[in-house]
Amino acid sequence: LLSSGNSIRQRFLNFYASRGHKLLPSASLVPEDPTVLLTIAGMLQFKPIFLGKVQREVPRATTAQRCIRTNDVENVGRTARHHTFFEMLGNFSFGDYFKKEAIKWAWELSTVELGLPAERLWISVFEDDDEAFNIWHNEVGVPAERIKRMGEEDNFWTSGVTGPCGPCSEIYYDFHPERGHSDADLGDDTRFIEFYNLVFMQFNKKDDGTLEPLKQKNIDTGMGLERVARILQNVPNNYETDLIYPIIKKAAELANVSYALANEQTKLKLKIIGDHMRAVVFLISDGVIPSNIGRGYVVRRLIRRVVRTGRLLGIKGDGQGNLEGEFTPIIAERVIELSSQIDLEVKDRRSRILEEVRREESRFVQTLERGEKLLEEMIAGALSVPRENGTLPCIAGKDAFLLYDTYGFPVEITIEVAEEQGITVDMDGFNVEMEKQRRQSQAAHNAVKLEVADTAELTESISDTEFLGYDMLSARAVVKS
Ligand code: ATP
Ligand code: MG
Ligand code: MG
Ligand code: MG
Repeated sequence: LLSSGNSIRQRFLNFYASRGHKLLPSASLVPEDPTVLLTIAGMLQFKPIFLGKVQREVPRATTAQRCIRTNDVENVGRTARHHTFFEMLGNFSFGDYFKKEAIKWAWELSTVELGLPAERLWISVFEDDDEAFNIWHNEVGVPAERIKRMGEEDNFWTSGVTGPCGPCSEIYYDFHPERGHSDADLGDDTRFIEFYNLVFMQFNKKDDGTLEPLKQKNIDTGMGLERVARILQNVPNNYETDLIYPIIKKAAELANVSYALANEQTKLKLKIIGDHMRAVVFLISDGVIPSNIGRGYVVRRLIRRVVRTGRLLGIKGDGQGNLEGEFTPIIAERVIELSSQIDLEVKDRRSRILEEVRREESRFVQTLERGEKLLEEMIAGALSVPRENGTLPCIAGKDAFLLYDTYGFPVEITIEVAEEQGITVDMDGFNVEMEKQRRQSQAAHNAVKLEVADTAELTESISDTEFLGYDMLSARAVVKS
């Protein structure tokens, strides 16, 4: 298949290799830089070169970098284009070529090598970057009405408050050219998808905020492989490309549903499983083990979200008739089968990966079941306490909070189950505990932020998609909608 994910990756790398770029391997998802939580872009392994701290070994490089962006976890399946795990194809110049070559090659790659129709491509440039505008317009020939000038937030890259920085320019694909030019908005994702970002590192930002031109100008780019596959394979979203769909199909099989016939809610759940299992497999392969802190916590939340989502889909046991079995290894296996072009080493680590997901799923299911037992005991305890006439037995706020915090029970479920037996829950006490916890985690979060700089919010945003518990009455997990 000319437009398979694997062939697109290969064509990108070959294109730049034949233009003098050294083909380098993807770096690990665990960055060498200890202050960064996870690899979020292709440039990360080159950051010391860009910052001038390390001498370049080659003037040009190209990579297919595996990336994790947990800040996009809420977008998974909700937008057609965001993943927690994706591959970023990149070409880099370390003080070698600059804006003109970067733009012309990006255009040639997109329109000639990948064959995207030129009239479907739109460009964004930084508002003040006349140089980029003119190259796109005068030299490449993109009509002015398809070049948008955008502000700092979208089109200016910085590595920190001071240091190397510069404008960027993005290429968008237009799914609906019939909608015309007049009020086209590149942020409208029913119409456009951003697929290629070119960063022109040309300034040094000084302490007083002024921009001083750099002697050594760099190019850093990123093209989302799944997004390009989606465009070329002509499917409605990244999830239905050959890079992810086989995983989704496996999950659908275990849940005994058909993706094609499923409603949007079911499709969303299948997409979450397809997305998260990729992240989980590549993270474990790179040495991240489920735990309660840092990277380990990211993997743990992702696996738990897969388990919970699988239960919501009705997957029981391993989904193949063994009620004592786990289903996550079966899906992980599918990810591993598809992995060789992304990372050759994943296959060698197969048994380790399968064992880790199996163990985490089993631990999590036990936690859920222990929580149910504990609630029964609390109810029995509340019923056995002697009380004055007219007062109802009551579950202490602390206990309800323990169920919520440690066992993942939403307090509404605790209330409902207790009520059936004529028992109340001390909600004032519960709220006191909740507030205490909120203050503590805020303090912890502030402490983490200093260490992992701009990626700290990644762990936080993942804990936002919290497991809300397990509905004992209907035996379904409950999630925040
Ligand atoms: P968006 O605006 O769509 O969130 P971005 O501007 O955050 O994308 P960049 O940081 O510019 O993305 O990353 C470079 C390229 O990597 C993007 O143009 C896109 O093709 C791809 N990409 C970024 N984030 C994701 C993601 N969460 N899932 C899949 N591909 C992504
Ligand atoms: Mg983004
Ligand atoms: Mg963007
Ligand atoms: Mg971008």
